[in-house]
Amino acid sequence: MTLSMNTPDFLIERNKDRCINCQVCVRQCANEAHLWDEEEEKVVSDDAQCVNCHRCVGMCPTHALSIRKFPLEFRENANWTAGTMKAIYRQADTGGILLTGMGTDRPYPIYWDHLLLNASQVTNPSIDPLREPMELKTFLGRKPERIVVENGRLVEPLPPQLELDLPIMFSAMSFGSVSLNVAKSLAQAAETLGTFYNTGEGGLHEDLYKYGKNTIVQVASGRFGVHSEYLNAGAAIEIKIGQGAKPGIGGHLPGEKVGVEVSRTRMIPERSDAISPAPHHDIYSIEDLTQLIFSLKEATNYEKPVIVKIAAVHNVSAIASGIARAGADIIAIDGFRGGTGAAPLRTRDSVGIPIELALAAVDSRLRDEGIRNQVSLVVGGSIRNSADIVKAIALGADAVYVASAALIALGCHMCQKCYTGKCNWGIATQKPELVKRLNPEIGAERVANLLKAWEHEVKELLGGMGINAIESLRGNRLMLRGIGLSDRDLNILGVSAAGE
Ligand code: SF4
Ligand code: SF4
Repeated sequence: MTLSMNTPDFLIERNKDRCINCQVCVRQCANEAHLWDEEEEKVVSDDAQCVNCHRCVGMCPTHALSIRKFPLEFRENANWTAGTMKAIYRQADTGGILLTGMGTDRPYPIYWDHLLLNASQVTNPSIDPLREPMELKTFLGRKPERIVVENGRLVEPLPPQLELDLPIMFSAMSFGSVSLNVAKSLAQAAETLGTFYNTGEGGLHEDLYKYGKNTIVQVASGRFGVHSEYLNAGAAIEIKIGQGAKPGIGGHLPGEKVGVEVSRTRMIPERSDAISPAPHHDIYSIEDLTQLIFSLKEATNYEKPVIVKIAAVHNVSAIASGIARAGADIIAIDGFRGGTGAAPLRTRDSVGIPIELALAAVDSRLRDEGIRNQVSLVVGGSIRNSADIVKAIALGADAVYVASAALIALGCHMCQKCYTGKCNWGIATQKPELVKRLNPEIGAERVANLLKAWEHEVKELLGGMGINAIESLRGNRLMLRGIGLSDRDLNILGVSAAGE
């Protein structure tokens, strides 16, 4: 075997004056970046194993540790950067596809940061959300052309709707890709907040059935864990066609992550790779999609809205139009900055489009075609804070999906090594000794806290605009101005430039 030409990505610095050789870092690191040297009777480091997840740094009782980028300077070259060359060394070592986790870290434009919100002055006074009511209640689902009311009651019942106390849901994360304790944290937080979490393609673990009224059950191409009881357990069903981090390809959960619980929940053999195919093998046209939507409605007595989730790709507005006409109640669009447990690096970093552009294009097209009321739009793909949410709603979304932000609230430090199954924070792992590091009660509280904080901030921002109901902001692009954007970008986003 030839010697690898790759160098470590990170350098572990251990302050000798502070280190008390307690070995906490040795026990905390699943990557074996810290080792106990029997002969020397001291803790030593293996820099090459470090993924910079900060677990040891956070747990060291004497703050003896710090992690830095490995101080190796390649000769400066704008074309052959250090990252490009190291990727080639890795592939020359292994002959394999480069895998990664979480969303893209490439410096693509983040349009949320080029959109500015409006605020009331003089004639349209702002509203103080601490003293006046502010409505964030959101209903997702098909809305009828008109409603007929007799004696204060609807004559025709509405199509099935999801009722959210705030326009934020947790997007799909499968049990297998994340630990059961993550799923429990999200489910409990969803129940507390009056919103929904999503099973992803991992099936529904028996411990989670009690959260059914706050659960969106997903049907993906692998159909893992899909059966009648599963479909009827949730409040809505999501057909996953695509995912922002890896449009056009399927999923792969390595066999090491398929322990007894995952195998039972997904209905696959233990330790077998769970490979979901790129396409649904029964969907090759809008008509096929219609068939699946109505099969799922039939299986659930037409009581649950059906969501179709797609990745944001080049012709996303035409695709969304077809999905609306196929009978979906909700369309979820996942932008290319969305996270993942595992994706080929080149796909993650090169395929798809930003959610901001996709959302604006889809909302405009559905309005132009007069079918916007037939579907609700939910968008995800790196919603980072409450301002992103307000901007998304103003651009046309009915609600947003968050995932990476929720995982960060649970302890994720974005090391992007989720695909290894060795997440030191107990998130993207099935190893019992790591899973137990995340207490679902504490996790639920932290995630609920995050969304409650965002809820307050959304109300503040709405109040500042003189708006007292999220409904009045939906698709109200007059509340947005673009800064540092080209005319073409502004045109696609449907917003004026700042100063106009
Ligand atoms: S956890 Fe901190 S004090 Fe303990 S051995 Fe590691 S570096 Fe030293
Ligand atoms: S979930 Fe865990 S492995 Fe994945 S990026 Fe976050 S800390 Fe790293």
